[in-house]
Amino acid sequence: ADATDAIDRLCAVVPDFPSPGIVFRDLTPVFSDARAFRAVVDAVAEPFAGSFDAVAGVEARGFLLAAAVAYATGTGVVTVRKAGKLPRAVYSASYDLEYGQATLELHQSDLPAGARVLVLDDVLATGGTLVAACALLEQAGAVVAGCGVVLELGDLGGRASLAGRNVHALRTV
Ligand code: IMP
Repeated sequence: ADATDAIDRLCAVVPDFPSPGIVFRDLTPVFSDARAFRAVVDAVAEPFAGSFDAVAGVEARGFLLAAAVAYATGTGVVTVRKAGKLPRAVYSASYDLEYGQATLELHQSDLPAGARVLVLDDVLATGGTLVAACALLEQAGAVVAGCGVVLELGDLGGRASLAGRNVHALRTV
């Protein structure tokens, strides 16, 4: 409840960002508030307690959550990054955006085979990002324990695109 209240109180709603007609939910004020950040980090991990050995964060805001959850739970953290950032051999997954394509990458050897990984990001919208992140982790031989987000945009179909996965959002709008 602390986390949900903090999200409702602090999330900034920004019309027409990054392009006209898009309503952007900006969670940076949630992250910058000490109590809210702690509540959100604890709550985002709680449904998955005991079920993961590592945490994956999706660039860039997912990194903030993933590092904090990994530290709090005594697990490791891996980065799912935008194309061209990782220096060693990667797996790549591309997916469609409203306009154009995006590519995410994961180092091939950052995780031991069979590692159970919790995947974290700030917002679930269409689900393309988390679908790609899960595909990369599975390609690397990991087992996806679940996907956690702070905020789910409920009418964009993200949950359906992640059907069969254990998905938890702290708040759905
Ligand atoms: P999806 O791939 O359509 O589910 O979009 C999710 C990705 O885009 C996440 O990495 C989010 O950080 C970002 N994103 C999409 N919409 C928003 C928003 O309204 N606020 C913040 N991030 C968003």
